[in-house]
Amino acid sequence: MKDISVKATHSIKENKLANVVGVLPGKKLKDEYVIFSGHYDHIGIGKPENGDSIYNGANDDASGITAIIELAKHYKAQKNNERTLIFAAFTAEEVGGFGSQYFSKQLSPEKVMAMFNIEMIGTDSKWGKNSAYITGYEKTNMGDILQKNLKGSGFTFHPDPYPDQQLFYRSDNATLARLGVPAHTISTSKMDSEPNYHKASDEVKTLDLANMTEIIKSIGISAQTIVSGKDTPTRVDTKELR
Ligand SMILES: [Zn+2]
Repeated sequence: MKDISVKATHSIKENKLANVVGVLPGKKLKDEYVIFSGHYDHIGIGKPENGDSIYNGANDDASGITAIIELAKHYKAQKNNERTLIFAAFTAEEVGGFGSQYFSKQLSPEKVMAMFNIEMIGTDSKWGKNSAYITGYEKTNMGDILQKNLKGSGFTFHPDPYPDQQLFYRSDNATLARLGVPAHTISTSKMDSEPNYHKASDEVKTLDLANMTEIIKSIGISAQTIVSGKDTPTRVDTKELR
């Protein structure tokens, strides 16, 4: 998740970076894509905190990358995805979303039926365990579809409770949403109080891995009717975006 205070720097340095993308072709609806994504970059080496200058980004966003790897394994084992599934680990999210911008130019956005961008799911949400929020919830009916598929599971998705923070625009989903794709970020991060956000202390030991496992399972269950082609979320109205 991008820091709201990050500003472009004046010097330009060329870096060779790459997204890492896997594709599971659809059985029938090959030209209809569903994207599961996260970002594998973080903010690098920074100001030492207690002698530690390496900012691991365990939550931001190794947790999201873990989710897409596990979902890829799950759908590969299921062997029944009618739509083509794309698992994308983006680079350069934190410095301005360059990985997802490049990615968005490699396919026609009209073919993308939904994008599940997963960011910072390693800590409990403000509602506690077995819950997460969806940024830009009201912009499409994707959240309602996911909720319907989770009925009776004990897991709930909520609309983003931090609207002032503009989280919808602070991750890689925004690039695709600006092209009309129903593209949302799923997160649990308490953006008003997360103690390790963009700190050297964002370490794996601070994560609730059992809860994170439940979140990943719930994303898989909630996505099922979109993966199968039964449900198709409404498009984002790009005129409403900033
Ligand atoms: Zn971040």
